[in-house]
Amino acid sequence: MNQTTYLIAGSSHAAIEAVAAIRMVDPEGEVVMATADQRLPYSPTILPYVVSGRTSPETATLRGAAWLEANRVRFLAASPIAEVQPDQRQVRMADGAVWRYERLLLATGARPALPPIAGLAAQPHHVLRTVEDALALQAAIAGARQAVILGAGLVGLHAAETMRKAGLGVTVIEQKSQVLPGYFDGEASRMIEKAFRDHGIEMVMGETAAAVEAQDDKGFRLQLAGGGERAGDLLLIAAGVRPVTDFLAGSGVDLGQGVLVDARMRTSVPNVWAAGDVAQADRFLDGVKAMAGILPNAVEQGRIAGADMAGDSAVKPFPGSVPLNTFAYFGNHAISVGALDEAGAVIETHAGDGCYIRLVIAEGRLRGISAINHVVDAGLMWQLILRRIDLAPVLQDFLARPHEIGRVLMSRLWR
Ligand SMILES: Cc1cc2nc3c(=O)[nH]c(=O)nc-3n(C[C@H](O)[C@H](O)[C@H](O)COP(=O)(O)OP(=O)(O)OC[C@H]3O[C@@H](n4cnc5c(N)ncnc54)[C@H](O)[C@@H]3O)c2cc1C
Repeated sequence: MNQTTYLIAGSSHAAIEAVAAIRMVDPEGEVVMATADQRLPYSPTILPYVVSGRTSPETATLRGAAWLEANRVRFLAASPIAEVQPDQRQVRMADGAVWRYERLLLATGARPALPPIAGLAAQPHHVLRTVEDALALQAAIAGARQAVILGAGLVGLHAAETMRKAGLGVTVIEQKSQVLPGYFDGEASRMIEKAFRDHGIEMVMGETAAAVEAQDDKGFRLQLAGGGERAGDLLLIAAGVRPVTDFLAGSGVDLGQGVLVDARMRTSVPNVWAAGDVAQADRFLDGVKAMAGILPNAVEQGRIAGADMAGDSAVKPFPGSVPLNTFAYFGNHAISVGALDEAGAVIETHAGDGCYIRLVIAEGRLRGISAINHVVDAGLMWQLILRRIDLAPVLQDFLARPHEIGRVLMSRLWR
């Protein structure tokens, strides 16, 4: 019988942080990291740059063999967990091997969601979540002329720019009426969409794909629900992600959209924690349990889960997720942090030269900010929101110079 003290399912950001936190408290306990990946731990965030050729797959590596050895982690590559049996404190791997654990972390992340499109299963298409996906997409771009991308989120727009720069005709189809829905406010999204149109990319907004069928050798014809159609020879599905929870069927672990967790990343089942893109934790601004899907959350949640698993009584509970996104496109730079809704005073400014900023202030505190081509540190704004810094005494200065005033406020705290 295989057994271990800590069993970590997954090998990405949340998993790595959890191991580091465990080792801060418990240098001796046995740690096994079992992952679906065939490679050493890597970050999906680098993959757009692997596709464009700006970086190599090795650059995406988060931790190498030396780190695993130094932290005495037994690393099981290509070993996805197929079933969790909490009553027996054991998991069954896809290859049939059974592992008993004392404490289990679910850090299995998310995988691309495939929209319901008739004929999609039979039609070759690409997604982007793994190094293998990135290399396959890179090879496909080299041999393609016309790409169709479903989804104008960060992954879809990154890929659209790469493909356009590689000389392909590119059509982006987005079911919502704006690009980067859920990330940026309407005005910022319009500015970003315009930049993509200005670079010759066809942006089809408020439309969904209904069916796809093969045409000629490697081409396809995509029918739109609204009646039109598009032809192409490279199809990328970038229509969001779904948490990887299928292996939890019958386990008794409570699921919402993802694995429901408390502020210590504990699931509904004893001795089982979850962190990162697979977890559904509290949102900072309204306390509602929601999916977050960003790297800073995976890091923070992994750290908290690991510390709690190792019995660190001083671990601070998860304060809740605050959205944080940065996006570079065609020489421009955009950030968005927090909530960009109307639940506060909204101050929007256009400063010419494609510069834009929107601040949402509620009860004297920053609720959200989006900015294009402004020098604003997204991490700093994130801290102002998370620490509920009172801006009232300096509000006018902050609205005029959020970066400088934000730095002054935070440096007083950090001192
Ligand atoms: C192309 C791309 C670009 C991104 N860019 C950004 C960005 O700029 N900023 C940002 O904040 N976020 C970005 N993200 C999101 C960010 O990558 C994720 O939030 C982060 O990787 C989540 O980490 P995680 O550890 O929760 O899960 P993941 O990174 O999804 O890793 C999940 C791990 O679990 C393993 N696994 C899956 N199923 C099983 C199983 N059954 N058993 C065992 N192991 C399993 C996988 O092999 C993998 O190792 C991007 C994502 C993608 C795909």
